[in-house]
Amino acid sequence: MKIAIEELAGCSGCTIAVLDLHEMLLDVVAEAEIVYSPVIMDVKEPPEDIDIAFVTGAVRNEENRERLEKIRKRSKTLVALGTCACYGGVSGLSMLSSNEDIFSCVYREAETTKPDGVIPTDVPPFLYRAFAVGDLVKIDYYVTGCPPKEAFLKELLPAMVAGNTLELSRKSVCSECDRKMGQVENWTLKRRHEGIPDREHCLLGQGYLCLGSVTFGRCGASCPKNNVPCHGCNGPSLDILREPCRDIYGMMVRRVSDLTDKPQKEVEKEFYDVAHTMYAFTIGSLIMEDKENSKIRDLIKERSG
Ligand code: SF4
Ligand code: SF4
Ligand code: SF4
Repeated sequence: MKIAIEELAGCSGCTIAVLDLHEMLLDVVAEAEIVYSPVIMDVKEPPEDIDIAFVTGAVRNEENRERLEKIRKRSKTLVALGTCACYGGVSGLSMLSSNEDIFSCVYREAETTKPDGVIPTDVPPFLYRAFAVGDLVKIDYYVTGCPPKEAFLKELLPAMVAGNTLELSRKSVCSECDRKMGQVENWTLKRRHEGIPDREHCLLGQGYLCLGSVTFGRCGASCPKNNVPCHGCNGPSLDILREPCRDIYGMMVRRVSDLTDKPQKEVEKEFYDVAHTMYAFTIGSLIMEDKENSKIRDLIKERSG
């Protein structure tokens, strides 16, 4: 079994999550050889006959697109690993700024930048937008998470290498969360720094924007368990993926309205910075943008001009 891990527009955190499996990785490499992974080893090109290739990161520039097409051609099974690959992830947020602003920020304004402030001309050109890998090539399996959680990879990787199938949970984060719904009175949306949430009751009911109901689970609701609202890093729930008329923003408006008896129009007024609070991990996904009531199209137009 020959395995490869390709890196596109991402932070390499998904590959580090694989390395974080520590000793368990030895069981995987006893059965399979890692033949290509720019983060782990010094091999410049993927070989021709890969059995399973994992691709991490979104597609943001020409080089990402070429690499994606090459690894697709050279592998029997292609797995999108991590939310950037599955839905564009945080790389998609680059669509909220113009290319000029991004390059100026990276090469002129960042403190670590070169002092000459010259924007290089020999970097791969940006595509007109960010893409999830499945928007451009056929993907056999999707493994979400930013990065995918250790417990999940521990279950998944040995099974894939052994060629076994797995029965996996399809539930949302809320289904994995054991917080109780308390009384909801005088609900107003709070920013995360505004107070310390009570540890027993639902965070959304307390006014904190928790995306658990619209987010795919398999993380054991790890953020709410640590008193932090879910910000949606596992991508949309199956419910949202399956139904063309369901969208993250619309479903959150409905949920809060049902919970609080506030009219949906009132709830909409409370939500702020929808691009970063609702679509931070999915704005680069055509599947999510193409939903008829998605806010993504307007957000991109508004912010990038
Ligand atoms: S999904 Fe998260 S951890 Fe993985 S490459 Fe993207 S930003 Fe990094
Ligand atoms: S909204 Fe958040 S806190 Fe409430 S049940 Fe769902 S995951 Fe738990
Ligand atoms: S609770 Fe939400 S933000 Fe936290 S790990 Fe799970 S999906 Fe990601």
